[in-house]
Amino acid sequence: MSNQHHDRKAGMNKTLWNLLQRGRGILQLQPMGCHSQTNGFCAGCEPGQYYQCQTCGYLQPWCKGALDTYEDICDDCWAIAEQMHQAADIPIEGAAE
Ligand SMILES: [Zn+2]
Ligand SMILES: [Zn+2]
Repeated sequence: MSNQHHDRKAGMNKTLWNLLQRGRGILQLQPMGCHSQTNGFCAGCEPGQYYQCQTCGYLQPWCKGALDTYEDICDDCWAIAEQMHQAADIPIEGAAE
């Protein structure tokens, strides 16, 4: 169980981010980081629809991760995990498909 520190949220640290995220839930405001605020991939998460990523510890909106199989890992961490997985993989010789 690795709990690494990733301060990738444009300078906002995890404690402050999570505090604000909880506050927005209490105030019935849409969670921060919801895709509807940036690229429109999400129709809009409801207030309080966030979860804590088990890897980075950030409270993330549901649309940013919460996949069926990896419901506790956010998109950011999943992308990193995937990259690390690919890097660790020994390239298969030839096309073994
Ligand atoms: Zn959303
Ligand atoms: Zn994460």
